[in-house]
Amino acid sequence: MRIAIYPGTFDPFHNGHQDIALRAARLFDRLIVAVYEYPGKDVLFSTQERLEIAQRAVAPFPNIDVELFSGLAVEYAKARKACALVRGLRAISDFEYEFEIAHMNRRLNPEVEAVFLMTSLPYAFLRSSIVKEIAKLGGSLEGLVPDDVGEALRREYEARARAGGLPTSNLVP
Ligand code: ADP
Repeated sequence: MRIAIYPGTFDPFHNGHQDIALRAARLFDRLIVAVYEYPGKDVLFSTQERLEIAQRAVAPFPNIDVELFSGLAVEYAKARKACALVRGLRAISDFEYEFEIAHMNRRLNPEVEAVFLMTSLPYAFLRSSIVKEIAKLGGSLEGLVPDDVGEALRREYEARARAGGLPTSNLVP
């Protein structure tokens, strides 16, 4: 049984994440999408929401599970008897960061291999922060996130606008 972990913040899980998860799930017997419980950055969605959004997105795929995790990804991989950590690559900017992390992870646990999947073209410029920016400004997210994620984002920003926070951004979608 070859198990791989796909760790991330997933705030929220979008179609670029889903594409990587489905492609990785074809390479391994089981893929665990591992949602950071305590991300080192500000998040819009709670841990539980990020978990549930990812769960709904991969629910149709029997060999993909979603779990929360904290601590070192390589330790988590070891605990789950996983042989690989999957990450997605969009651009050179991703590469530099991933290169550093992969080398540090190998130092920590050489048994766990880093596997990088290149983004699919339609998602090459898709990231959670852009998804949130478009949602905040009321733009269409069609084809970028699962439908329920679009709804969740709209609800969240409407609630914030009602509470008095006006959208501020320079992004022109
Ligand atoms: P993190 O906070 O760990 O960078 P993210 O939730 O932003 O986590 O992303 C998780 C993983 O998915 C990362 O490896 C990231 O490079 C990858 N990823 C994000 N968006 C895309 C995309 N559009 N195409 C391919 N991979 C992606």
